[in-house]
Amino acid sequence: MRKIHLACVLLAAAAACTHAVPKADAPSYEVDAIRYGVLQRFPVSGLVAGADTSRRMDVAAMIWLARAPGGRNVLMDAGFYREKFMNRWKPANYERPSVAVARVGLKPDDITDVIISHIHWDHADGADLFPNARIWIQREEYDKYIDSTGRAKSSTIDSLDAAMLFGIARAGRIRLVDGDSVEIMPGIRVFTGGKHTFASQFATVQTSNGTVVLASDNAYLYENLDEKRPIAQTLDSLSNLRAQARMKQLASAPRLIVPGHDPLLFVRFPAPGNGVARIR
Ligand SMILES: [Zn+2]
Repeated sequence: MRKIHLACVLLAAAAACTHAVPKADAPSYEVDAIRYGVLQRFPVSGLVAGADTSRRMDVAAMIWLARAPGGRNVLMDAGFYREKFMNRWKPANYERPSVAVARVGLKPDDITDVIISHIHWDHADGADLFPNARIWIQREEYDKYIDSTGRAKSSTIDSLDAAMLFGIARAGRIRLVDGDSVEIMPGIRVFTGGKHTFASQFATVQTSNGTVVLASDNAYLYENLDEKRPIAQTLDSLSNLRAQARMKQLASAPRLIVPGHDPLLFVRFPAPGNGVARIR
């Protein structure tokens, strides 16, 4: 039986309740990973701390969709599309993320929300492909990397992406999240501490199979999780390991943790196919 916090009951009418009480009416989402490209022969030592520098693998570039029946279509991350990234990285089997969502029957206009896990080019660049979406990002992440005029504060964020996110903020479509373990909408909660970037976040999504964790780059590969190895690109390895351990506690089963770039995801979840993995 679910506990109901008395203050929540009293304050519900004023919509002032912030207690983390699971709501009986929280929607149950369907979660899909959508592969929109492949980065070929990527060095594994850039993903898993201490990996053999000769190892290379074709990694998946993904966005993740959480869909509530008759309701929200929430993306975690938005991929990339700008020419400079295309020219530099030359992804294989590439499809613009706003086109790739057609594989799950959606148009770009249908996306109601985009949760940006962090401001790297391959996760944030496509945020402006979804014109109706609210863009959710940690306030500390935004403030750390984008100044008050829309300029990049460091090379961690591309200058074009800084200007683009600033423009979305000025248009009133940015939602800044204040910190860890925040339920940003019913059934979806975000967490900090992975320290891939200053305030990178991961998310939990409630499904009919239980809680799915969308790790994004806070765990690049299953290898990070299985071998308890920090990601190679982190501000703080210990924090990253703590975040990965936390993901294992949050997920209803280990297989429901979705790493950020692992092609094995599409082997473990082969249906429906065509670069779409239905996690639940
Ligand atoms: Zn990244």
